[in-house]
Amino acid sequence: MLLNGGLSVKRHDYIVVGSGFFGAVFAQQAKEAGCSVLVIEQREHIGGNCYSYDYEDTNINIHKYGTHIFHTNNDDVWRYINRFTEFNRYQHRVLTTHQGTVYAMPVNLGTINQFFGVKLRPDEVETFITEKGSREHLDSPANFEEKAISMIGRELYEAFFKGYTMKQWGCSPTELPASIFNRLPIRSSYHDSYFNDRYQGIPIGGFTPIFKRMLEGIPVETGVDFFRDREHWLGRCGKLVYTGPVDRYFDYEHGRLNWRSVRFEFDRHDLEDYQGTSVMNYADPDVPFTRIHEPKHLHLEKSHTPNTTVTIREYSLRDNDRPYYPVNGDADKAMLAKYREMESAEEKVIFGGRLAEYKYYDMHQVIGSALQKARKELSDREKRSASIST
Ligand code: UDP
Repeated sequence: MLLNGGLSVKRHDYIVVGSGFFGAVFAQQAKEAGCSVLVIEQREHIGGNCYSYDYEDTNINIHKYGTHIFHTNNDDVWRYINRFTEFNRYQHRVLTTHQGTVYAMPVNLGTINQFFGVKLRPDEVETFITEKGSREHLDSPANFEEKAISMIGRELYEAFFKGYTMKQWGCSPTELPASIFNRLPIRSSYHDSYFNDRYQGIPIGGFTPIFKRMLEGIPVETGVDFFRDREHWLGRCGKLVYTGPVDRYFDYEHGRLNWRSVRFEFDRHDLEDYQGTSVMNYADPDVPFTRIHEPKHLHLEKSHTPNTTVTIREYSLRDNDRPYYPVNGDADKAMLAKYREMESAEEKVIFGGRLAEYKYYDMHQVIGSALQKARKELSDREKRSASIST
């Protein structure tokens, strides 16, 4: 205990800034190892952008910051998350609307046959796309557009990716890295599942209960802005775990990293089913939103208020103050390298998560990275205390 102006202020081994997956997993692991942990959270709720809640009088669970589907191939991560929730058997399938017609996403044999009005077999797709789909083979595609055209040809790219990507990222796909295109599989079979991963589902009861269980027995202070008194928090802990934006931590000394943000419009309808699926993408540039979410389709195991549904229209915008997707352009990469250098001088601080690492992480990747960093830190800590006591 420290005395501060006559008030006793508890010190903690770790103070974790942010209660999204990185912060919650780190806090849980540290508590389990016997450490004293405090979590502070700027928002009024825990769970970061994975926060979910039940929409009033509907029993429909809403992902406040966009639909989150849990999927992973990592056994360790799957075992870990299953300590805190049970999953339903939801398998993500996405549809996309292009010029009034609905197609399956990601691009698969069904999409290709429907789009070109043909009936190809899997072994005919390669040649067809090269000849009829205007594919240009490139050895090392330098950006999203080149990668897309070398994989699926110009026609499919222009129908399903170009307009959507321009809306989503607010720039030309030639300015985006090829790695963003690689997030989606391209299939010459009729397999239309969005992910190839072995494990997939939606937590029964939504995402928020996972965070509540992970943080059980750990003090959490919500509505607390770390930057209002960072010296206070730093003075109260052995180490700080910071999961906010990395440029903010260093007072934007090298400038501001670029982020895409999203805005949601919620509607409640007196209808049993609005669109028949959980996510409908809108590929065309003249439709202002990118997709419509209908969350009741994520929980087929659950009964909802009859003749009621909720839809959420998603609009993309540039807003570095509400970060969702790291743009990661050339200027951002150069800036990030400078922040990384500054981080290495911060011995007392562990940086992690999508915001602090400026990485387009999925949930399972954040959990994997938090487990790895927490295990390393906690084993180093044990070694440090063993060397002090000998
Ligand atoms: N994308 C697209 N059309 C689609 C779906 C995705 O052009 O119908 C592109 C778009 O650039 C998007 C990227 O593929 O940013 C990755 O899509 P993903 O579904 O992984 O995005 P997220 O769900 O993370 O927003």
